Amino acid sequence: MRVGILGGGQLGWMTILEGRRLGLEFAVLDKDPGAPASRVADLWFPPERVRDFIRWCDLITYEFEHIHEELLEELYDLTTPSLSILEVKRSRIEEKEFYRRKGLPIPEFTVADYSGLSPTVKDFGFPCILKAERLGYDGRGQYRIDSLEDLHQVFKNHKEGEKFVVERLVDFSFEFSVIGVRDKKGNTKLYPLTINRHDKGILLYNFTRGFSIDEANQIVLYLMEELSIVGLLAVEFFYTWDGKVLINEMAPRPHNTGHYSLDGSYTSQFENLLRAVCGLPLGSTKLKSPSGMVNILGLSLEELDLQALLSVEGAKLYWYGKDKKPRRKVGHVNVVASTEQEVEEKIERLLEVIYHHELS
Ligand code: AMP
Repeated sequence: MRVGILGGGQLGWMTILEGRRLGLEFAVLDKDPGAPASRVADLWFPPERVRDFIRWCDLITYEFEHIHEELLEELYDLTTPSLSILEVKRSRIEEKEFYRRKGLPIPEFTVADYSGLSPTVKDFGFPCILKAERLGYDGRGQYRIDSLEDLHQVFKNHKEGEKFVVERLVDFSFEFSVIGVRDKKGNTKLYPLTINRHDKGILLYNFTRGFSIDEANQIVLYLMEELSIVGLLAVEFFYTWDGKVLINEMAPRPHNTGHYSLDGSYTSQFENLLRAVCGLPLGSTKLKSPSGMVNILGLSLEELDLQALLSVEGAKLYWYGKDKKPRRKVGHVNVVASTEQEVEEKIERLLEVIYHHELS
């Protein structure tokens, strides 16, 4: 079967590497022939050749949410999961309003436009988090606001006409995510939750835990059904000190917090995405052993102490082959161990080896 992937990033790269074992062939649509997935695909197409891409593919999926409007039209009826989900996802405001309409638990928020930011934020109260409506991911377009002075940076980086979500700063005990997979017949499976630790809005590391939070599982199952997902849905949550579960955001594609599944699970999230979209039976999402992952941000391969890194027992490096840019995700390390405590110790060690205590 010939699978087309919209987007050439590392999520596509891992999907292709996993899919080769299943005998699948791949084409990638991306403007950059040097992008990680473009380099390992059987065929690469630039966006101008979208028609040729469509002709070649038996089915199309995506690893990237910010698909250009013009391409969306061409691809609308051909892609799984359905691109209609991206209409919710392309605006942070629409996404939050969608949860609110469905009665799902989210942090309190309001909406402001650029010119009305100061009065709206003053009215809403401090501290709050401001999130630009569009193209925000990995902490981009996101600001913590403790006083009106903090808005200077927002006024500098944005312009008239832009809109923002103004959100209550959640005092959470921990952040976690649950990834679900759903096939064409509506069968579903959930991966175990992972606890996720961020550094300035970007995932730094995460690890699996042997317990589940039923309310979160029910939300993921509900959303997959409601959005008629065929493929993956990752939902990120806050767990507050008083035991509330709040949705932060969702992603209808492979998720950074599921990378551990390449080594820790019976079936990785990437393989299960492919099984779902190709009409194959879903694979077990059970853990083989406690697992974790550390992201490598903003480094070149030369800057990594590979000797030390690969000496950590159970550590496996995934290097995406991207150019280094500040805080860019350039690779990750998966780690497995026989106990959760051992996984955490190994993550500590990896953080030292990779960052030498330079991160907060
Ligand atoms: P996002 O880009 O919305 O996924 O946010 C990235 C990270 O910023 C989250 O994983 C949290 O660590 C932090 N964050 C986002 N929104 C809030 C909030 N309302 N309260 C506290 N932390 C937040």
